[in-house]
Amino acid sequence: TVMVRRRMKRRRKWRRVVGILKDLEESCETPLGRLRQMVDAIAVEMQAGLVSEGGSKLKMLLTFVDDLPNGSERGTYYALHLGGSYFRIIRVYLGGQRSSLHVQDVERHCIPASLLNSTSEVLFDFLASSLQRFIEKEGHESISSRDVKRELAFTFSFPVKQTSLSSGVLIKWTKGFAISEMAGEDIAECLQGALNKRGLNIHVAALVNDTVGALSFGHYHDADTIAAVVFGTGSNACYLERTNAIIKCQNPRTTSGSMVVNMEWGNFWSSRLPRTSYDIELDAESLNSNDMGFEKMIGGMYLGDIVRRVILRMSQESDIFGPIPSILSTPFVLRTNSVSAMHEDDTPDLQEVARILKHLGVSKVPLKVRKLVVKICDVVTRRAARLAAAGIAGILKKVGRDGSGGGRRKSDKQTMRRTVVAVEGGLYSNYKMFREYMDEALRDILGDNVAQHVVVKAMEDGSSIGSALLVASSHSVRTIPYE
Ligand code: BGC
Repeated sequence: TVMVRRRMKRRRKWRRVVGILKDLEESCETPLGRLRQMVDAIAVEMQAGLVSEGGSKLKMLLTFVDDLPNGSERGTYYALHLGGSYFRIIRVYLGGQRSSLHVQDVERHCIPASLLNSTSEVLFDFLASSLQRFIEKEGHESISSRDVKRELAFTFSFPVKQTSLSSGVLIKWTKGFAISEMAGEDIAECLQGALNKRGLNIHVAALVNDTVGALSFGHYHDADTIAAVVFGTGSNACYLERTNAIIKCQNPRTTSGSMVVNMEWGNFWSSRLPRTSYDIELDAESLNSNDMGFEKMIGGMYLGDIVRRVILRMSQESDIFGPIPSILSTPFVLRTNSVSAMHEDDTPDLQEVARILKHLGVSKVPLKVRKLVVKICDVVTRRAARLAAAGIAGILKKVGRDGSGGGRRKSDKQTMRRTVVAVEGGLYSNYKMFREYMDEALRDILGDNVAQHVVVKAMEDGSSIGSALLVASSHSVRTIPYE
């Protein structure tokens, strides 16, 4: 009878765990009907955000980018990109034709954790010194000896209220950054100051959101590119809008009649979003609670932590993971790249899952439990990918490229134009299941007839290269670029 009682106890625990999984699945459900509601809600919010400042949770920020590069640009340009987890520095040579674009040098580094809550002085000095080292590598015979002013784009992957192509203030940090003394400061001016202090002859010619850089790069290679989305540590999108639709800013002067709008879609919110108790806890404990609700469901920074919270709940309610390891209670210990490694583990007995769980302090997990963990990863990532697809479809709807005929011209329905959406970021390029779920959901939402005209194009380093291209094509270049 002791044996029987033990077995029954085990079964009860297992049932409890399965119940937790079932609840998760139910609250993460994204049936097509719900995704379509998201699409409509996003298009409506985009409109509201364009009509008045603060009219929507979507900030729909002006970028002052009207002229997207077309391939005729010439010169050598630099970009410094502060992303969510990495920063990059690149040097690009442009020879006046697309085929002559040459990325001469690129450096990628992890952002040191200590920087996230340092001061603005520390941050900008760090960026300036990294740039100085990058330039010193160029050596004597290079352009440095000619003492020509270098033209730099600052790709800054955070929400900025731009006052021109080359100036703007940070609205609020996202993605775990909490650097003080930045409120109201002009970001480009801060970097320029730090460069000047080091005696570097570099001009910060553009301040560019990463999505805008990605759009610029996408458009450079393919003129049908009208939007760009970043699926990285954070998530965001921008697209090309007609200036007369940007009602909140009457007649922003552009020669092209359109302007790139930075949606800051990470802050999208709708009561119809499939939200779980884990999302609510994650948000409450985050540095920016009540903000970036959409990003917290689809951003690479957060997926791992949602999965961790589910595993923690299961281990609290049963002992299927053994005694609760303290490390499992540490926010963000489970990174999204581990989630993708577990999700895509193709070893027969899920050794990769076992290995990663061991790092979380959970060893000796039976196969049945490992399978459960894979399922959690699947549910969380599938929801993210499907919501991301709804976001893209929302943009297509807003610009009349979703086949509904609600676009700019009545004839849009009959003459569906080829539409390219540039996509950048590790979550899309490194996480196959995310990519597949997203592509599939986008096809389902749009239907095959429309989907065949929509191309999602993945890029690498597009944000940085594209920002440099913007400097090249902008009218704000004050010095003659060298070749
Ligand atoms: C920022 C955006 C950025 C996105 C992707 C978000 O947290 O608010 O400005 O484009 O991350 O990097």
